[in-house]
Amino acid sequence: MSSTSNPALFRKLPSTDELLRRSEIHALSQREGATVVGDAIRTVLERLRHEIANNRLDESSLDLALSGLSSAIERELRYSLRYSLRPIINATGVILHTNLGRAPLGSAALDHIRNIASAYSNLEFNLESGERGKRDVHVDRLFQKLLEDHVGTAAPGSPGDQGSTPLARTTIVVNNNAAAVLLALNSLAEGGEVIVSRGELVEIGGSFRIPDVMSKSQATLREVGTTNRTRIADYERAITERTRLLLRVHRSNFAITGFTEQPSLADLVALAHRRGIPLVEDLGSGALFDLREIGIANEASVFDSLRAGVDVVTYSGDKLLGGPQAGLITGRADLVARMRSNSLFRALRVDKLTYAAFEATLLAYVKHDRHAVPVLRMMHLSKDEISARAEIVASHVNSAGKASAKLKLKLIDGESVIGGGAAPTAVLPTRLIALTHQEQSADELCARLRQGDPPIIARVEEGRVLLDLRTVFPEQDATVAEAISSL
Ligand SMILES: *Cc1c(COP(=O)(O)O)cnc(C)c1O
Repeated sequence: MSSTSNPALFRKLPSTDELLRRSEIHALSQREGATVVGDAIRTVLERLRHEIANNRLDESSLDLALSGLSSAIERELRYSLRYSLRPIINATGVILHTNLGRAPLGSAALDHIRNIASAYSNLEFNLESGERGKRDVHVDRLFQKLLEDHVGTAAPGSPGDQGSTPLARTTIVVNNNAAAVLLALNSLAEGGEVIVSRGELVEIGGSFRIPDVMSKSQATLREVGTTNRTRIADYERAITERTRLLLRVHRSNFAITGFTEQPSLADLVALAHRRGIPLVEDLGSGALFDLREIGIANEASVFDSLRAGVDVVTYSGDKLLGGPQAGLITGRADLVARMRSNSLFRALRVDKLTYAAFEATLLAYVKHDRHAVPVLRMMHLSKDEISARAEIVASHVNSAGKASAKLKLKLIDGESVIGGGAAPTAVLPTRLIALTHQEQSADELCARLRQGDPPIIARVEEGRVLLDLRTVFPEQDATVAEAISSL
């Protein structure tokens, strides 16, 4: 029992006004503003009152708390003004992790964002004519260049094939790929039917489901085939005068194996063109490079699909492409023009920050500079390079006195995951740092890494914490080593 009664303890608490007159608190409110400092004072005093009321403070512990009152207020202020959105270290090895913000941007993109966003710009202003311009031109011109280099002329026999003249293709940008699919379906198929294989009626997560997007777009879904087998004849039989589109959807997050059949893209293109119906492909990830470079076969790039004769492709800006969040629609100019003139396009358009980041990212592709795009760099890292960095981290942790004897660190072979709707089975060989502790579970270790500053996100498998340096920036390796050591 405390010798002082509660009322006497309450009387020891200074008032908000008294505290605001203290020189250090006064300086704080000059710097950060009186309102937020007042709020921090009230929060700290309220906490003390609560502790007194619950008999958790006696006279001496209250005196101690009061002697540190100014710094407690400052801490509270810092906490309340802290950003909620924080950088983290991604040691999961999942290169495109939707929960962790997908693709990090390269420095050219960040510089361009800063330059464009901190000043006025020619976003919709034609500097030559002095007249209103279109925001699309800033990235379409780079796409034109990439398409010329990688796709060339139209597939023979396609509606866009005008002899030897290249097929006119346009690219537009919307908020994300979900928006791109919605815009494409609504612009090209409102009031009509869209034929989709039952094996492609996918849910991507975050409530993107093809049947739902279809109904929002005011198009009617015409399902054909079965979950595991759809033939070209199934599409053919379903075509009526109401058919507006054939839609192919990338199986981004699952694989169907066993007794399966799916018409080839070439067969679908041939059917669509024979019947004069556009073929739209939702590629999901949409790479602008050949995934065979990193040992992944059977994953078509944007260019592969267009070269095969697909009329319109939709894909994300922040998946395999490695740019900002966006949805891209690339395809036959006449079809894309119908999307441009749809009022939905205005509602789904992106801002100058996105255009700036995109332009810089695409320039890296034009220059074949894959080091400028962080996710491309990560995908191209060899297991040996990752292994060498993991050895350095391990030796730092194991160096005398750094780690507790109870922490065991081992390097093991494993796999990084591309994620973000590339082939669900696409993995890259890597070398992992595996941690176990005599007294702490893997989940506890993982939580401690996550609660550090900066937070480090790792994965737990078979009772071990696994860290994959593929998705860690090399300049973060030392921070990772320090965090492991402090476990
Ligand atoms: C990821 C994905 C989407 C959604 O793309 P967002 O850019 O996240 O809106 C749509 N379709 C497929 C096939 C995808 O993989």
